[in-house]
Amino acid sequence: MKKLTLKFGGTSLNTVDQIKKVANIVKKRHDEGNQIIVIVSAMAGATNDLMSKSKSISKNFDNKELDVLLSSGEQVSCSLLSGALIELGIKARSWLGWQIPIFTNKNYTSSQIIKINTDEISNFISKKGVAVIAGFQGVSEEFRITTLGRGGSDLSAVAVAKFFQTDSCEIYTDVEGVLTTDPSINEKAKKIEKISYEEMLEMASLGAKVMQPNAVQTSMIDNIPIHVRSTFSGKPGTKIISENEIDNKKVITGIAYSKGNAKVSIVGVVDKPGVAADVFEPIGKNNINIDMVIQNTSLDGKNANITFTIKQEDLNKTLSIIKKSKEKLNYNKITHDDKLAKVSIIGAGMISESGVTHKMFRSLADEKINILAISTSEIKISVLIKEELTQRAVKTLHKAFGLN
Ligand code: ASP
Ligand code: MG
Repeated sequence: MKKLTLKFGGTSLNTVDQIKKVANIVKKRHDEGNQIIVIVSAMAGATNDLMSKSKSISKNFDNKELDVLLSSGEQVSCSLLSGALIELGIKARSWLGWQIPIFTNKNYTSSQIIKINTDEISNFISKKGVAVIAGFQGVSEEFRITTLGRGGSDLSAVAVAKFFQTDSCEIYTDVEGVLTTDPSINEKAKKIEKISYEEMLEMASLGAKVMQPNAVQTSMIDNIPIHVRSTFSGKPGTKIISENEIDNKKVITGIAYSKGNAKVSIVGVVDKPGVAADVFEPIGKNNINIDMVIQNTSLDGKNANITFTIKQEDLNKTLSIIKKSKEKLNYNKITHDDKLAKVSIIGAGMISESGVTHKMFRSLADEKINILAISTSEIKISVLIKEELTQRAVKTLHKAFGLN
């Protein structure tokens, strides 16, 4: 007998019929003699609907009220699934975050899980009950409802696997597993059989949507293997595991992208200690995330240009912040560019393989794709390009690195 964590995403629960199908999948695993904890997200689109309702009341809708509102989507799906299981003759019960409780910090709208109380649910599943937990939510020490950031039911699943020490953590979704790239822009995308936590974290952070980055990070820290698989096909999907359990490694495992980036250049600041700090301090204080940063110095070494990228929606705010510090920074001018995409190749194999950088740049050059900025880590290389060239870049790199 095994103890399983099974998580179902919104696209697997998008209609009542689909919820009945999920109930049958759960029943099958239960009939095999397993103890089962199910985590659900809201039915597809539900959270977005709630979000837009809040926006039509206020652009600055109160954080704590937003969490009460957004968490309601999972209340609907977990009761429907429990009801469907009961209808199939299985003992089942739903739990909301505060009823368990799942304790989080007070970071409303993007809380971290601190602890999950396991007593009641452990007892229930040991007596053949199926526990259905509302994902994405918890409760703070102030006893107010919290949520874990968009896509946060993945994090709920990983935390449940950790605190209940289950034998597996299965993430059921609408694709075959983790794919080498987004199939909607490249039909050559293939399922990856095994991927390391580190690679998956880069993929998720750089735009692959199958898993929430925070969930991947937690699984990496606590070494909780994840199985991402399809609700519809029943076939094995992708195993996210530790690097040393993967034998035949490819140089590049996957290609990710994100659109909606903007680039700002501050031209002609004095090149002396403290300038970069002065540029980025007020931006950071306004909660704007900086992504890539490039600095270059004039030939005589007196002046520097600082270029950085941000999310497009932060562009206007960023420009006005920099204009406010015109006197302090004493720059020549600011230029900016939007509608940019970041395309990244990811693979632990690049640590030991030379020539990857050159191959990436050459492939893009052959397609006449101009690179506007570059950033690298040990296991990824990202380039900034014009958004309209995204698909061409992804297809070219997918082919060049043997993923077709
Ligand atoms: N329903 C939440 C969202 O849409 C959480 C999740 O789906 O994982 O972000
Ligand atoms: Mg999701």
